[in-house]
Amino acid sequence: MKYVTGAKCVICGKFFKKDQFEYICPDHGNEGILDIKYDYDSIKKDFTKHCLANNKDQSVWRYGPLLPVNEDSPVPRLSVGPTPLYHLEKLATRLGIKDLYLKDDGRLPTASFKDRASAIAVVKAWEKRAKVITTASTGNAAAALSGLCASVGQENVIFVPVSAPKAKIAQLLMFGSKVILVNGTYDDAFDLCLKVAKEYGWYNRNTGYNPYMSEGKKTCSFEICEQLKWKAPDTIFVSVGDGCIIGGIHKGLKDLLEMGWIDIMPRLVGIQAEGSSYMYQAWKNNEDIITKPAVVAETIADSISAGLPRDRVKALDAVNKTKGEFITVSDEEILKAIPDLAGKTGVFAEPAGAATWAGVLKAAETGMFSCDESVVVINTGSGLKDINSAMKSVELTNMQYFKVEPSIDKFRIIASYLKL
Ligand SMILES: *Cc1c(COP(=O)(O)O)cnc(C)c1O
Ligand SMILES: [Zn+2]
Repeated sequence: MKYVTGAKCVICGKFFKKDQFEYICPDHGNEGILDIKYDYDSIKKDFTKHCLANNKDQSVWRYGPLLPVNEDSPVPRLSVGPTPLYHLEKLATRLGIKDLYLKDDGRLPTASFKDRASAIAVVKAWEKRAKVITTASTGNAAAALSGLCASVGQENVIFVPVSAPKAKIAQLLMFGSKVILVNGTYDDAFDLCLKVAKEYGWYNRNTGYNPYMSEGKKTCSFEICEQLKWKAPDTIFVSVGDGCIIGGIHKGLKDLLEMGWIDIMPRLVGIQAEGSSYMYQAWKNNEDIITKPAVVAETIADSISAGLPRDRVKALDAVNKTKGEFITVSDEEILKAIPDLAGKTGVFAEPAGAATWAGVLKAAETGMFSCDESVVVINTGSGLKDINSAMKSVELTNMQYFKVEPSIDKFRIIASYLKL
């Protein structure tokens, strides 16, 4: 926290000094999300690319001076970052672009992007000596908080909709969280969790409420740019539910521009599911997102199913300020993108992760790319999180597989059918 100066309300711009805010701007209630501010001149004096290159710690904590935690606070034992950035030369040629990279955040410890934010939440809760941390989640933020808490023995209570995929609920139970399945949507679980946190005085990790979550999520931008030797890509594709990830990616890039470590701001492309497209609608129709009411959210991509995106101000800003855009993809396109991406790269994504790949294919079709462009696609979660959906794409794409008696003769029949 040495370099944090305070936080600014994303709605009214009011600045709160370091010790004068908790979560939100009191003038704007739950919409008054704060953006953490840093003293970059001081950071620049103490922290250089050279320091970073010599730091043996490869995890997100290597970016310490740009993170809102105290230098001497203990960090969770579970290691968060870096995740691989794969250079996909052949696919780039096929899409008609110069460079294509896949950032696989399904490789984080609890298998989704949310570990980046939850790592910060656990440290902040420790700094506040909180007895209990809580969050609502569609599943991944919960699993991330749950696993990171388990690694340090931090008590936590988790609210998820009953419809959350089984694997995500299993993670919560294995990690020893107190699990509350809310008979309602994610939006219902969110509202309940906020009330509970207030009444019981628990540390609140909720996305689009706790201002530190964007700060954890921005570490993905730091990694991408460091992996590309500080040459920022032209375009980054990221899926959008609450909008905290895209806001965090934007924040990380702004930090790097302030530090003088990158030269250009990539355009950010937000991918939404057709059935949960609040941000796309607001962006396309130029609507006022402070007053735009919730939409009905229904998509197979549970992690981006959000009727009222809680971090919508930062998300819209991320797209507008970078001359990016929002794209929607259908559930069918998402289901087809899962095996397409997995078969071409070896990276198995959950529906919300594969949505970005569906978005890239759509963007290529509509002529959104120029031939000298470099594009980064982020996979936000592992396909093992949601096997039900993966099996739906097996059906949808008529994938074949074979049952055989354990006999070589029987196998030969299949082999000749398969022209093996
Ligand atoms: C949470 C999540 C997202 C969307 O992030 P938001 O901050 O809600 O926009 C995308 N993909 C996966 C796998 C997620 O868990
Ligand atoms: Zn305000």
